[in-house]
Amino acid sequence: MHKQERAEVANDKGIKSRALSLDDARARILAQLAPVALLEQVPLRAALGRILGAGVTARLDVPAHTNSAMDGYAVRAADLPAAGEAALHLVGESFAGHPFAGEVGPGQCARIMTGAVLPRGTDTVVMQEDVVAAGAQVRVGAGHRRGQHVRHAGEDLAAGATVLAAGRRVGAADLGLLASIGVAEVTVRRRLRVAFFSTGDELRSVGEPLGEGDIYDSNRYTLYGLLTRFGAEVFDLGVVRDEPAALREAFAHAGAAADVVLTSGGVSVGAADHVRDVLAEVGEVDFWKINMKPGKPVAFGRLRAGATFFGLPGNPVSAMVTFLQVVRPVLEHLAGAEARPPLVLTARAGEALAKGGNRREFQRGLLSNGDDGELVVRAAAPQGSGILRSMSFANCFIVLPEEGGPVAVGDRVRVEPFAEGW
Ligand code: AMP
Ligand code: MG
Repeated sequence: MHKQERAEVANDKGIKSRALSLDDARARILAQLAPVALLEQVPLRAALGRILGAGVTARLDVPAHTNSAMDGYAVRAADLPAAGEAALHLVGESFAGHPFAGEVGPGQCARIMTGAVLPRGTDTVVMQEDVVAAGAQVRVGAGHRRGQHVRHAGEDLAAGATVLAAGRRVGAADLGLLASIGVAEVTVRRRLRVAFFSTGDELRSVGEPLGEGDIYDSNRYTLYGLLTRFGAEVFDLGVVRDEPAALREAFAHAGAAADVVLTSGGVSVGAADHVRDVLAEVGEVDFWKINMKPGKPVAFGRLRAGATFFGLPGNPVSAMVTFLQVVRPVLEHLAGAEARPPLVLTARAGEALAKGGNRREFQRGLLSNGDDGELVVRAAAPQGSGILRSMSFANCFIVLPEEGGPVAVGDRVRVEPFAEGW
């Protein structure tokens, strides 16, 4: 941590007295971290969801040949009649994969299929519905345009052009695009390794019996899903009891295996002191109060072994919201991905929304198409930070700005639809 940050650690709980804005917190974290450097070569299909480590340049034109967009007849535009009709002599055919070897001369034409190479001499295609063909004679009427129904070589991608830039997350369309230029192997960044565990003496894993006062650990399962969908290599280290020795061991284990270590629980004021003490031993970690709701304090720092550390709040909704708003942009950066600012839409509030205080709120919303064509958003479920079904049923965050108050029915609000794949 920098000196100035240390100075801001205000009280004996280690909580900074002045809350950081979410934007400042993100910027501050990103400024300290560099992406993983290692690159790998993977076969094309295995690149799905990976981050490109280098830009890809087209080695050939796509399409490679000027070809027909229709089934019909390849003609010379000069032969097309301005009025009346022209009779052309059929000299051959060009099918996809079977080009016409000859040349089409004046007054001649060739039968052509969609995707077939345009024969030498021709520059225009007349749809088969627009001609009258009888034996070797093809009659064409007026009203056709020079160059119609022709796809030009390189009109999708020109040889030498950058097809996809470094930092791109490879999607399904990208796989096809890469295949279209004959790319069989792709250079991608090494997957980010993320280790995580839950802390809390009350937590049990599914399959275990619950004692009195126990609850099932849900955060590890949510984090497993979030991290797997993100494309990280995950190391689930289970539930760790609030005991110094157990925590020390878990951090040693996690820090050795991972680029990033995530924990949930034990970072709020009054939480088990062991987590803080052990963190002070194993790394440089500060507890940040980020001006967001849900959120409360989030711990951030670096473990001595080198891993970046985030301590998320234990409440299931808080853990997810802080992951999505604070951690995921950092993971994108570490993974070498281009920044993906969320899509922000405006919607009409379909119901009143409570808002107090001056924190930025991330309410869980259900966005739908209103009858008048406008977007309408309602709360997905009660908004308590322990009510995980609010995240489960939601399809967006309703983002209420720091300075704003409660929302009345019909007010316009900002929504961030959940990105595909989380
Ligand atoms: P903490 O941040 O440890 O003070 O926990 C805050 C609340 O979240 C408490 O009600 C915890 O029982 C609950 N909690 C903490 N960790 C988890 C978890 N992994 N899964 C579900 N609930 C949790
Ligand atoms: Mg706890």
